[in-house]
Amino acid sequence: MQIRASNPVHECDICVIGGGITAVMLVERLAALKPDLKITVLEAGRSIFDRENRGTYHRRAIEYGEHPWHDDYIEDQQAKGMISMTMAVGGQALHWGGACNRFSEEDLRLKSLYGLADDWPIEWSELERYYVQAERRLNVAGDPSPYPEDRRSGPYAQPAMPLSYNLQVLKKWAEQSGLKFSPLPLSRNVSAPADGRGACGLYDTCGDVCPTGARYSPDYTYQQLIAARKITLHDRMLVRKLVMQPGSGDAISAAHAYHQDRPEQLNEYRARLFVLASGQCWSPHLLLLSANLKHGTGLANRSGMVGRFMNGHKFISAQATIDEQTFPGQNMTHSLISREYFRCAPGRPFVRHDTRVWESSAGKEPRLRSADGGLLLGDALLDEWRSRAFKGSSVRLRAYYDSHPSRDSRLTLDESSKNRYGDPMPAIDRRLDAAATAREGATLAHCTEVFERMAKASNGRLTGKPSVSDYWDHPAGGCRMGTDPATSVVDSHGRTHDHENLFVIGAPTLPTGGCTNGTLTFVALSLRSADRIAELS
Ligand SMILES: Cc1cc2nc3c(=O)[nH]c(=O)nc-3n(C[C@H](O)[C@H](O)[C@H](O)COP(=O)(O)OP(=O)(O)OC[C@H]3O[C@@H](n4cnc5c(N)ncnc54)[C@H](O)[C@@H]3O)c2cc1C
Ligand code: SF4
Repeated sequence: MQIRASNPVHECDICVIGGGITAVMLVERLAALKPDLKITVLEAGRSIFDRENRGTYHRRAIEYGEHPWHDDYIEDQQAKGMISMTMAVGGQALHWGGACNRFSEEDLRLKSLYGLADDWPIEWSELERYYVQAERRLNVAGDPSPYPEDRRSGPYAQPAMPLSYNLQVLKKWAEQSGLKFSPLPLSRNVSAPADGRGACGLYDTCGDVCPTGARYSPDYTYQQLIAARKITLHDRMLVRKLVMQPGSGDAISAAHAYHQDRPEQLNEYRARLFVLASGQCWSPHLLLLSANLKHGTGLANRSGMVGRFMNGHKFISAQATIDEQTFPGQNMTHSLISREYFRCAPGRPFVRHDTRVWESSAGKEPRLRSADGGLLLGDALLDEWRSRAFKGSSVRLRAYYDSHPSRDSRLTLDESSKNRYGDPMPAIDRRLDAAATAREGATLAHCTEVFERMAKASNGRLTGKPSVSDYWDHPAGGCRMGTDPATSVVDSHGRTHDHENLFVIGAPTLPTGGCTNGTLTFVALSLRSADRIAELS
């Protein structure tokens, strides 16, 4: 990369790389704690600040099946083994469902309690305080868990989203198995507008785009922060390398970035402190790409741990039919969760998972052909449909389960795939450790038994065998936190062991990926990083 006099140089106090949900939570908190800080956010993708059009996108998606988010990715910036290619201001949370479950204390103590994987270098009571803060910022609607181990130090921001008639029926049914269920906590303005976003219409139209903004989306917060001049955002600006000044120790001196419309022009961003908030794929990728003469295997990588222990959780899905009568279509995206198996009694075969229940219309859709192939029209179509729809219920079941990564669960640079600049793209190959591999069969048998027990409580049965996912959801890892610089990349606040002015926040820092949706945890950790960065600034 050649530095010319004509290349733009930008100066700020804090340079944040990546414009997703973890970044926006960090900068919002930092700007509140330290209003004088000059904060610049660099995002590789574009700003999709067109909320006035979202009602139209939503309608066209429903009526014509159109994809509402055009150009929310970068054609030549792709990774093997990644489940979402979104690169835009707001990141993947432009499209998320807003499910905001907490992990449990066991996630932080796997080694001490069960002799498995690793402990996290953070106390549960401290993380719990940041969960409360994250839930307030995301306006999470939830009810306290019926399990006493899930006690909280503060209430949810709003009461849970009301259960539809169907979910009330399914809750009664599911609890006959002995498990206790709650409405899924959601980051959504349930009954009133808040934070510049509208209230939920509860029309059961949740899909690719929320027309009212009721479901939390980071682009709203970015626009508010920009309008209030609390941050500067440079979009379509891809950071290709973090660089160090010769003679300035191990400190990072600049981020080198290129605008999508001016790929030949280097932009140099100088800052006192750099925060890598590029998610679990692109954060370790940038550290590996930034290798230099002194740090030949990449920045922050003296331990060799950058790109290792890539995690997340696998999941088991099933479908059941039961006798209770529901009427599918009332609120297909809302669901129930049980935290019964977040805990595993020491000495019992290890298994941890959440248990989720949705209404389902499987087998209940109207059909144009009868079982013997005859054409169905008018009353005949309705009669055939009623004969199936008003007879019992279909139910969708799922369990995210604790899937511990091995050291060789890895993100590496793939020399066979390069972007327009010739930078190798990431390839992710997730692998279980030996103990997790050995218990795969027992985990499937356990979850099948739980699902069958639930179904039997209402004279039901599973339709088909439960299936195991072929990908890991809520991906995390690659820059894991720890106290020992020989075995970890960052400390519990996300500060890299090797470079005192470089932080990595959120998903990449998780040593293990939990057994429920991860983003609330990524956000809670990022808020904790913000407090530490504010102390240092
Ligand atoms: C369809 C869908 C539904 C989901 N639903 C849920 C849910 O209900 N609950 C839940 O907990 N989670 C859910 N998730 C996951 C959730 O969206 C992610 O965990 C979360 O958004 C990750 O945020 P992040 O800030 O870590 O990373 P990202 O959202 O990936 O943001 C990182 C940003 O950094 C930018 N970037 C990367 N590299 C560079 C670079 N070199 N220079 C400049 N910018 C860069 C990227 O373009 C991106 O915008 C869902 C995800 C999807 C796709
Ligand atoms: S149901 Fe509510 S959260 Fe979902 S798209 Fe509609 S307004 Fe948004």
